[in-house]
Amino acid sequence: MKIIAVGWNYADHSKELNPTQLPKNPVIFMKPETALLKENKPFYLPDFSKRIDYECELVVRISKMGKNISKKFANRYYDEIGLGIDFTARDLQNNFKAEGSPWEICKGFDNSAPISDFISKEGYDLNELHFSLKKNGETVQQGNTSDMVFSIDEIIEYTSKFFTLKTGDLIFTGTPVGVGPVQINDHLEGYIEEKLMFQFDVL
Ligand code: MG
Repeated sequence: MKIIAVGWNYADHSKELNPTQLPKNPVIFMKPETALLKENKPFYLPDFSKRIDYECELVVRISKMGKNISKKFANRYYDEIGLGIDFTARDLQNNFKAEGSPWEICKGFDNSAPISDFISKEGYDLNELHFSLKKNGETVQQGNTSDMVFSIDEIIEYTSKFFTLKTGDLIFTGTPVGVGPVQINDHLEGYIEEKLMFQFDVL
């Protein structure tokens, strides 16, 4: 399986990190399968970075193989949603950006993609879905999919031009404003609407 992720997909977050302009197409990168961290296992801060940021994101699970999927039919290709963190080694990313180098290491390192269990999308309005992240009991990020620059269906249309999507692939759909660093002993909790999706410790 593969993990596809979208950068700069919420305007306010884009301004936070990259105050130039919104992308014309979704900005796509990937994380390897070894980035997954499941079952609320703790996240251990890696020694190669001094600045790991959380980015809480709605995640969509692909349920059927497809290529060149049109936006109109994209909703047939996923039936479950979850919540995840796109951990980012921001200090490394800033260096890579300055060099014009690819991002893979700062986004795809081991355990950089904690993920909740998945739930059926039925009963949720994915065009207006609220999700949030608490750090040590305090809400630090709140997002609503209505603020996405590119909708889930547009992301699927775009990415499936280049990559065949397969059952079990995950799409991290971008983070809203409020990203920030984690430190040892932080406790993170993620919610879709009022439902607790994950909670784990940073060690
Ligand atoms: Mg992200």
